[in-house]
Amino acid sequence: MTKASGPLRAEGGFPVVGIIGGGQLARMSQQPAIALSLTLSVLAESETASAALVVPHAPVGDHTDLETVRSFASDVDVVTFDHEHVPPEVISALLADGHPVHPGPDALLHAQDKIVMRRRLTDLGIPCPRWTAATTAEEVTAFGDEVGWPVIAKTPRGGYDGKGVRRIGSAGEVAEWLEAVGQDGPMREGVLLEEAVAFTRELAVMVARSPSGQAATWPVVETVQTDGVCTEVLAPAPGLDDDLATTIGEAALRVAGELGVTGVMAVELFEVTDPRTGAPAYLVNELAMRPHNSGHWSIDGAVTSQFEQHLRAVLDLPLGDPSARQEWTVMANVLGGEHPDLYPTYRHLMARDPGLKIHLYGKGVRPGRKLGHVTVTGDGDLEALRERARHAADYLQGVIDE
Ligand code: ADP
Repeated sequence: MTKASGPLRAEGGFPVVGIIGGGQLARMSQQPAIALSLTLSVLAESETASAALVVPHAPVGDHTDLETVRSFASDVDVVTFDHEHVPPEVISALLADGHPVHPGPDALLHAQDKIVMRRRLTDLGIPCPRWTAATTAEEVTAFGDEVGWPVIAKTPRGGYDGKGVRRIGSAGEVAEWLEAVGQDGPMREGVLLEEAVAFTRELAVMVARSPSGQAATWPVVETVQTDGVCTEVLAPAPGLDDDLATTIGEAALRVAGELGVTGVMAVELFEVTDPRTGAPAYLVNELAMRPHNSGHWSIDGAVTSQFEQHLRAVLDLPLGDPSARQEWTVMANVLGGEHPDLYPTYRHLMARDPGLKIHLYGKGVRPGRKLGHVTVTGDGDLEALRERARHAADYLQGVIDE
């Protein structure tokens, strides 16, 4: 491995991991980095970005600017990401400069562009919703008439938390919708259209893969979304059919291998009922190639968290054990609500529930913004654990006051 040549050369031969993006994922990577004596550097959006507040080196710069990213990379031993918004050509330039980058641009493209992802997964025979890429209103109408209305339209790039996802109820809405997305905007490249899946619930599985090809998956989880935003994760997914869990894990490993993923990847899924057999089945919704909200439970709930595993994987170290520590882990997201300052809520919550784990991301409160999460682990009564996690998230958000 080439050694960082800049001022960040770490003592004792420990590598410096550079993370592009200073959000909460980079922030939560700092904790395992402390234990493993790894040095992190983040290319942050601002001095007060979530990770910039806790990581020892946090230069501020634009992740789309090649020279900024190049100079950042020359100070670290390996480059990885907090988000998927670094342009592929910038990542390719880093590789050409000789910097190890994980995941690499060819793999990452499948998490950056939903049409590229759908095409590749379909080629691999991985079950997906019926889909097409459309550039004209006529194509949208033809697809809806074929698969049935409503259809789900997605801008292929740049969406997150349901932004860029739109339900089109009927052929009559197509003109209105085209106007809303703008003829010169996403439609120019084509919009991803999918059948509206009648799923029984949403699932996710995290997989880690190292450059030398070692790979591991965590248990399949259930994710609960409210208005397109994940609010709760249940690990493992309660009542999930054993065969389906195995099939999903194998599919995630196969996708990671075929795409050459390095680092951790989240595979978001829909659980459906096979109309022919009545058996539970899955469809892949999307891929994220970084630690992911559906894996936050692993900090408190697994032997190896997704953040530690990602660091191990990008450094090509042997992977850790991803097994759950207890029967259940429930994670609830804390979204911005009534309280401008969350610290005053600690006393009540900590006194009420000593087993509760609070993780806040150092972010200013804005309505609906992901500010943190809480986790509860235990054996036995899942509903009681859910109630504790829900209560804590609601109290932090100011939805309830006792
Ligand atoms: P984002 O990239 O913004 O997270 P997703 O593709 O994950 O977008 O979609 C956000 C949410 O929209 C999903 O979690 C799911 O609830 C819903 N959704 C997405 N695609 C479909 C579909 N084809 N059918 C039904 N619901 C969908």
